Formats: sequence, C-alpha cells, structure tokens
Amino acid sequence: MSYDVIVIGGGITGAALGYELAKQGIQVLLIEQYSNLQGATRQSYGGIAYWAGDTELTQTLCAEGIAIHRQLSQELDSPTEFREMELLMPIALDQDLSQLLAGYAGFPIQPTVLTPQEAQEREPLLAIESMAAALALPHAQVHPVKASQAYRSAMVRRGGTCQVAQVDRVEVDGTGVSVVTAGETFHADKVLICAGSLSRQLLRQSGIHLQQYFSYAESIELPPSGLQLRTIVMAPDIKRFGLEAQASTAELDHFWDEADHQLSPPILDAGAIQFFDGTIRIGQISRTITTITDSFDSLPSVDAGDSEQIIRDGVRKMLPAIADLPGTWDVCTVAFSRDHLPLIGPIAETPRIQVFSGFSNPLVLVPPLARRFAQTFGSQPDAVVAHLSPQRFRSGKEN
Ligand SMILES: Cc1cc2nc3c(=O)[nH]c(=O)nc-3n(C[C@H](O)[C@H](O)[C@H](O)COP(=O)(O)OP(=O)(O)OC[C@H]3O[C@@H](n4cnc5c(N)ncnc54)[C@H](O)[C@@H]3O)c2cc1C
Repeated sequence: MSYDVIVIGGGITGAALGYELAKQGIQVLLIEQYSNLQGATRQSYGGIAYWAGDTELTQTLCAEGIAIHRQLSQELDSPTEFREMELLMPIALDQDLSQLLAGYAGFPIQPTVLTPQEAQEREPLLAIESMAAALALPHAQVHPVKASQAYRSAMVRRGGTCQVAQVDRVEVDGTGVSVVTAGETFHADKVLICAGSLSRQLLRQSGIHLQQYFSYAESIELPPSGLQLRTIVMAPDIKRFGLEAQASTAELDHFWDEADHQLSPPILDAGAIQFFDGTIRIGQISRTITTITDSFDSLPSVDAGDSEQIIRDGVRKMLPAIADLPGTWDVCTVAFSRDHLPLIGPIAETPRIQVFSGFSNPLVLVPPLARRFAQTFGSQPDAVVAHLSPQRFRSGKEN
C-alpha cells in the first residue's frame, strides 16, 4: 500500500499536521516510535503564549492559534483540556522593572503591573516577601499529550492510519519515498519529518543537512497534592531564547553533528503550571549539549540530583508551598531553530522530503501552521508558510 504522505513523529507537531492533512482528504500514515509519547510533548507545560507575537507574521499566527484552541476540543471531539489561565511573573526586589517591561514592548498585548499584594490575591501560593511587583498576562494552556491524542484520534476518524515503529531512514527515488523501519518499509509520495529534536539526526542518515538544534530540558512532575494553583507562574526574564540564540549561530552549526559539545552555559527559567488532574510541572533547566541520546545517564555533565535541587530552589523563591512536594525529575530534548521560527516545507534538493519542526513556541503556532500547510499541500504554499521554508538559512536571507 502506498500513502500520499507519511508523517514521522506523533508529538504535537506530527499529530496536528496528520489531522489537518487527513481533513483535506490526503491519505496519511503517521509513524511514531513509542506507543506512549516520550518526547518533548510529554514533558511540556502546554502553555499557549498567544500574546508573544513580535512581528506581523507571528502576531497573525498567535491570533489564529488561540482562536483554533478555543474550539479545538469541539472540533476534534475530544478534550484537549484547554483553559484560559493568567500568567503571573513575579519580579524580585533586585530586578529592574522598567528593563523587564521593555522586553515586552514589542508585543501587542502588554502585561499589567501588579503590586505584590494584588499578585497574591490572584495567586495565594505566591511568596511576596522578596517580590517588588509582578507582571500579569492573559495566557492559556492545554494538556499537550491529550491535545496530541485528540488530534491523532481525529486523524484516524478522517481516514488516517497510525503505526508504532522506529524509522531507521528515508529513501527517495523517482517514484516516491520509502520509509524504512526495522520490520517493514512503507511507501508514499512524500514524507513529512515531525521528529522534534531527532529531525536533524534522522535526515542526516538520509544525507540531508537540516539547520535545526535542540536543548535538554529538565523539569519535575509533582503528582496531585491537593494544592491548587490559580495561575501559571513563570520568571519574567525568559533566558531560554538567549541560550538558543547563542548555541545556534552559523559558525557553531557543525558542532551539532558531533557529540559532547556544550555550546552555552545552562540556564534556569523557574516556573510552575498545573493540569486539570492536579498534577503540577515545575522547571525548567535548559542546556545545549550536542550529544543526542535517550539514555540521559550517559550525559556526564548532567547530574539529576543537582538539577532537581536547582529547580526546586528556583521555584521555592516564588511558590514555597510546592517547591518541596515529592515528584519525579524528567529530562527530554526540545528542538529549536536559529531564528525562533519553525522550519516548514520541502528540502530543496529532495522536495519529496519536507519538514515541520523546530518550533520555539509550538503550542500556539502549530495549530494554525498545520492548517495553513495542509490547505496548500501539493500546490503553492501560502506566503506565511513560504516564509518559514528551511531554505531561508541556505540563501543568506536569515532573519
Ligand atoms: C518542560 C517543558 C515545558 C515546555 N513548555 C512549553 C509551553 O508552555 N509552550 C510551548 O509552546 N512549548 C513548550 N515546550 C516545548 C514544546 O513542548 C515542544 O517544543 C513540543 O512539544 C515539540 O513537539 P514535537 O512534536 O516537535 O516534538 P516531540 O514531542 O519530541 O515529538 C517528536 C516525536 O517524534 C518521534 N520520533 C523521533 N524520531 C523518530 C523515529 N526515527 N521514528 C519514529 N518516531 C520518531 C518521537 O518519539 C517523538 O514522539 C516545553 C517543553 C518542555 C520540555
């Protein structure tokens, strides 16, 4: 049997894209290596930062993204656990409020400045002794695994197929694409790589160079304890984007094909989010080490005990009541690109192989981009999708 498209990867990117393609009547096979998701989507906060568009393109996509999320459970006929949830960002006494506010100046939705008392009224678990003020933004969240499952089930109802298998490599010939797994080879007209942080490695096995990178993200899952967060709490100065920019310059690109390079010092973005069932995830440490592995014990520079302590210490300053709750430390790898925008579309030399990966802000951007991509699949891409082509890093047009 031959498919129109094989999607590799069943995280939020592959699941959303598989659904949107199937909705267009395209015959889709989605191949995911794990029956229970193990990648970045499993450990994600699921936050929808729809205020965070800083260009016309990202503002358009953020507006489309939140509009889709607001009706997505209904459309997919399965709960994504979407809810509007305020984002609170406590500002410590030694932080400069005006400098922090300047970091938000480019966004269409501006944060409200709260006194510590006002912040604590909104989030009673906040510690306010060492807080100068807080910023508040309208935000939203989904349960990322449930959203992915909802997309996947809806894809199957639209005629798509799912297969659990690990893809070894992708081969292209004049008539189509072969996707080779240990047990079977699948055939299609085109293949879409949605393998998250593994996309670059998978394409390398097919002789294709993709300028995509990844960070290790460390966080802790706290099972339900009876404590209730009323907001999402994050540090106001997100350091992850700086870390990504530092580690993904054109000069450093070749290190990503080798192991054991740490390309920027690790950072902590302290934060906490709670899901419908009461589970809380706190995090997150990000680090850019070029070794890609499922066996995190083999990373000599990551000590799980130290990492857990650093995360708990960071969260304790904001939310002392939850910082020492029992929990499970987790680590995964998260893809990103050089300009914080995803890589979407054909690889020039092999147009049958396309990518949909490298999102820095995927929960808000994936739904609209999957829809736009699928609606023009096989014809001229729309201007937004064309702008996100992976070719932008090959032609010197980097933005
Ligand atoms: C702690 C944490 C908090 C986060 N919070 C947010 C947030 O609030 N908002 C936000 O927008 N983003 C957030 N993110 C980032 C976001 O979760 C990820 O960027 C996103 O989930 C990536 O989705 P993906 O589908 O690209 O990758 P993944 O979820 O990693 O999925 C890729 C899939 O491909 C499969 N795969 C790979 N190779 C193969 C192969 N060879 N064969 C078969 N299958 C394969 C993998 O098994 C995996 O399931 C967070 C991430 C973390 C870790």
